[in-house]
Amino acid sequence: MAHREKAHAMRNLEEEILSKNITPELAEQAHRLVIGDGNLDADIVFIGEAPGKKEDEQGMPFVGAAGKFLDVMLEAASMQRSDVYITNIVKYRPPNNRDPKASEKEAFWPFLLRQLEIIQPKVVITLGRHSMNYFLPDAIIGDVHGQPHKVVVGEQEMLLIPLYHPSAAAYNGSLRQTLIDDFLTVPEIVKQAKHL
Ligand code: URA
Repeated sequence: MAHREKAHAMRNLEEEILSKNITPELAEQAHRLVIGDGNLDADIVFIGEAPGKKEDEQGMPFVGAAGKFLDVMLEAASMQRSDVYITNIVKYRPPNNRDPKASEKEAFWPFLLRQLEIIQPKVVITLGRHSMNYFLPDAIIGDVHGQPHKVVVGEQEMLLIPLYHPSAAAYNGSLRQTLIDDFLTVPEIVKQAKHL
């Protein structure tokens, strides 16, 4: 799909979420829908959990504390935000940053898949278990973090890399190092994925 068509498809998808009133309870309490941000032609899509306070205020994913840590890791792996696309499984802020409910994740899952079909990345990186478990239902993050798994979205094969969530890792020394170490392997995995 050409870039312009992708941008058009993403805007349509956003309007569809609004007009279908997906997760009305969340929609009512949040300031806005946070659809995602970044390069629609990216090889890598990051999928977090749900917007937090800052994200809800600004309408952009990962702009608070977790986002700062994500930026540090992107830089360490010689990547910039403009090279990647970043979104969440749930696209409204849950009240008081509670965990998203299963029903909320389910409601947004088809839209997340459509975002991946629009962008057609080579690599999908889930941040934390909420988005990982939709792709790998039985996986335990402590066992599989950093390991690429083949998944099929629409008709396209992609490599999924489950990583720890930056909020979980930011203040935990050993998890933090594990997440950084996993992150540094991403560029090599992207190179492999280009042969898919
Ligand atoms: N945490 C997430 O999972 N997503 C965001 O957008 C911000 C914090």
